Amino acid sequence: MFENLSERLSGVFDKLTKQGALSEDDVKTALREVRIALLEADVSLPVARDFVATVQAKATGQAVTKSITPGQQVVKIVHDELQRVLTGDEDPGALKIDNPPAPILMVGLQGSGKTTTTAKLAKRLKERDGKKVLMASLDTNRPAAMEQLAILGMQIGVDTLPIVAGETPVQIAKRAKVQASLGGYDVYMLDTAGRLHIDAELIAQAAAVRDVANPRETLLVVDGLTGQDAVNVAQEFDDKIGVTGVVLTRMDGDGRGGAALSMRAITGKPIRFVGLGEKMDAIETFEPQRIAGRILG
Ligand code: GDP
Repeated sequence: MFENLSERLSGVFDKLTKQGALSEDDVKTALREVRIALLEADVSLPVARDFVATVQAKATGQAVTKSITPGQQVVKIVHDELQRVLTGDEDPGALKIDNPPAPILMVGLQGSGKTTTTAKLAKRLKERDGKKVLMASLDTNRPAAMEQLAILGMQIGVDTLPIVAGETPVQIAKRAKVQASLGGYDVYMLDTAGRLHIDAELIAQAAAVRDVANPRETLLVVDGLTGQDAVNVAQEFDDKIGVTGVVLTRMDGDGRGGAALSMRAITGKPIRFVGLGEKMDAIETFEPQRIAGRILG
């Protein structure tokens, strides 16, 4: 498996002569290791390169602290910088759901975990925030997906909009809004259709739904194990639909979390939640510190 970055760096620094400050050469040697660690964690090359340049500027000339080794010192600078890049201005878990009924649009590719995440978030809103939530599936091409949401709704005790055959996604979104208003719901979640790839139809449909629903949040669900692909998907969805945040799923897997850094650095969009398994409780608010630790190994 991966060698821990701290161990790797202490190896590098053991070979160097002790000096009062981190010299440019010390830092350069260490940062070669940092770059490798980032790439192994699946951070994209340009992001790793920019990141290393920033750390280099911060580390060079820094006085060597007596209590920790130079290796630990560089790891700390890297860790702090990772956390800085990953941290947004706002609380990632705070969804904008004032002014009921607040629409939340869920978008993403098929298989990313969108329907599961919709139900997980609905359960969270219901149990933690005491909200009355309605879920609606807009995946008119896949009756099984609509059925899946209804089954999850029953499991978690959250209402789903009754399925009416022959409606378009826009018609379903309108009906969800009416039902949410009449039924006194705080939030209604629209689970849009997913495709295996982003295509014109998928985007046109999501955009049409966005235009009628005027969502308070548009959350993009992406598979955290797909690395750079996840970042490309996010970039495209954001360009075409506009998203307010990202949910990274399958973070319970073996991935090193580098996608989170690339995602943040390239799209500028906050990661709001991470999916940590198939169960309905397996979702957490994104915590930059944990991901930073995981990227460093
Ligand atoms: P959709 O096509 O995007 O709606 O994807 P689904 O919600 O149907 O999820 C596809 C599969 O991924 C299902 O078997 C889910 O249980 C699983 N899944 C979703 N989120 C996670 C996660 O965070 N971790 C793991 N391990 N599996 C997940």
